[in-house]
Amino acid sequence: MKCDSIMADSRARTILLVEDEEIEVELIRRIFKDDSLEWEIFNVSSLKEALKWLGENKSPSLIIADYFLPDGSGLDLLKEVMGREKREITPLIIMTKHSTEQLVVRSLKSGAVDYVVKSLKELQNLPWTAKRALLEWKQAVKLKQAEEEAKGYMKELEIAKLDLADFAHTVSHDLRVPLRSVQAFTTLILEDYGDTLDERVREYLEKVREAGERMSALIKDILTLSRVGREFIEVETVGLNKLLEEVKKDLKAIIEERGGEVVVEELPTISTQRVWMKELFMNLIDNGLKFNRSGKPTVELSYEEREREKRKGEGKEKEYLFKIRDNGIGIEEEYQSRIFNLSERLHSQEYEGTGVGLNICRKIIDKLGGNIWVESKTGKGSTFFFTIPER
Ligand code: ADP
Repeated sequence: MKCDSIMADSRARTILLVEDEEIEVELIRRIFKDDSLEWEIFNVSSLKEALKWLGENKSPSLIIADYFLPDGSGLDLLKEVMGREKREITPLIIMTKHSTEQLVVRSLKSGAVDYVVKSLKELQNLPWTAKRALLEWKQAVKLKQAEEEAKGYMKELEIAKLDLADFAHTVSHDLRVPLRSVQAFTTLILEDYGDTLDERVREYLEKVREAGERMSALIKDILTLSRVGREFIEVETVGLNKLLEEVKKDLKAIIEERGGEVVVEELPTISTQRVWMKELFMNLIDNGLKFNRSGKPTVELSYEEREREKRKGEGKEKEYLFKIRDNGIGIEEEYQSRIFNLSERLHSQEYEGTGVGLNICRKIIDKLGGNIWVESKTGKGSTFFFTIPER
């Protein structure tokens, strides 16, 4: 082990030596005096004195304590040192005349950084052991600090995410009310005064109404997005074929308008959050019909059960893999991962939409503990896949 960083610091290191045998104290003092680093040694001879010294002085760089003290053991001191928050950053080395494996294990388990036997050879090595202990301690403290900091950041991030979701929720809610007025009055003007209006004015008002509709759709999507993960939704037993019947009913207008078809194979009954599952299927099927120039836009839904490695821990678990295949326009390879990002739209001119749908899907799938991806060839249709673990 290199001790460069300890050597580089030229300040004297202070050691509290808790040892009652004078000869040994003298020997240790001499050994440290001959070392290349400057050490300052304070000696006390009992547990009581050690605690008093620690109470009255600044923390030493290191404590070296005899295991057998007249009024206790070095491990008792260790407990005290570890127990006081202030002293938590002081490393402690235990010394004994004889070493037994049990003693070594007990010392290290209690939190001693090292353990030395009081033989001349080991004592001569004490400065080196001390430097190594200091270095290891410094690294451990740094690691602990970094961990604490990281924990702090994670917490802040979680709070920020929650705040943001709350904010999005409130703002979208509040935006809806004035927007409704804008839409209502535009419709009123168009309906009641349409005939008397100049052609141009009517055209402009139509544009206001369309923009209002787009904004309303966007607000609705942002509200949904802010609800995912923010609200607790109960898990229930959901027959997916029945759920898909509902989805088809909700999409009836677009299916009929396009002369399209949604083909659903036999699906399982699963335990899941119904609302989110419906949202998922709605978005994916709607997209399959929408981004489609075929004479008969068709979306096929199938599934299979398979095994996957458990995310946490050993072993395997079952998961459902759903496939939603369409005969639509397809997606260029370079955009295939980007479409799951917020507001990423490839065909914004030709097709209506807000660019939020797939982001909602990804967030839902994250919450359910699965994955979502797409395979597609331009002009040859797309297949969206998602998995969810079996509960
Ligand atoms: P929106 O449908 O509101 O545009 P989405 O988040 O649902 O937003 O989709 C993002 C983009 O991904 C779409 O604008 C479209 O370009 C592309 N996309 C999504 N689904 C399909 C699909 N089935 N076929 C082709 N392109 C798709």
